[in-house]
Amino acid sequence: MAIVHADAVEITNIRYGDGFRRAGIIRCAAKDCSQLIEVLAGSSGNVSPEMICIKAKQKGWHVSINHPSACRCPDHNRKAPKSERIADMPTSQHSASDTVIPIKPPAPTKDLATQVRELAPSLRKKIRDEIDGNFDDTIGAYLGGESDQKIGDRLGVPWAIVAHMREIGWGAVRVDPEIEKLSAELVTACKTLDLTVTALRGIHEDLEAQRETLRQLKAKIAALTQQTR
Ligand SMILES: [Zn+2]
Repeated sequence: MAIVHADAVEITNIRYGDGFRRAGIIRCAAKDCSQLIEVLAGSSGNVSPEMICIKAKQKGWHVSINHPSACRCPDHNRKAPKSERIADMPTSQHSASDTVIPIKPPAPTKDLATQVRELAPSLRKKIRDEIDGNFDDTIGAYLGGESDQKIGDRLGVPWAIVAHMREIGWGAVRVDPEIEKLSAELVTACKTLDLTVTALRGIHEDLEAQRETLRQLKAKIAALTQQTR
């Protein structure tokens, strides 16, 4: 068997239930990305780097077994088919795989003050009423799960406009540091859950593969038994 260096795959033990399981870990090498994929070993405890790579690829990862710096999580794996890549070339000179789409509202074409001024007075009043009824300016927060986004969606206006009107008339949203901390923990917990689900799917696939092997062996034995009769 050929020796595989498999620098991209880190074989380790990870906590699983009450104990530990062997697993392979591949990390996304995109700048500032902390995503990783953990693939649990099958029940035999055998974990081969090739198997880890195959599983990771099935989950949308780009993996180069000997080149850790080339590995990309699904978010950073923008390896489009050739035709699309060529079409992409003139507009983006930098590597497509390093492109991160920031989550923020699209930049308005006109400045917000102008956009607010151009709204129909009746619509402007509706937005004001919504903000006034849902925003508590003494604590700097929307009540009852309301937000600039929800009001914008309800009234069919870009939420940046709602945010602008709220900033001017009622003040900034002041985020409670405790809530911010808990939100960050929630995001981490969601990621951990995703990893566990991925790992469990891997185990499930292993079990299905083993079941299929058993089925084939049984069929062969049955066929041979009939022949020898
Ligand atoms: Zn990534």
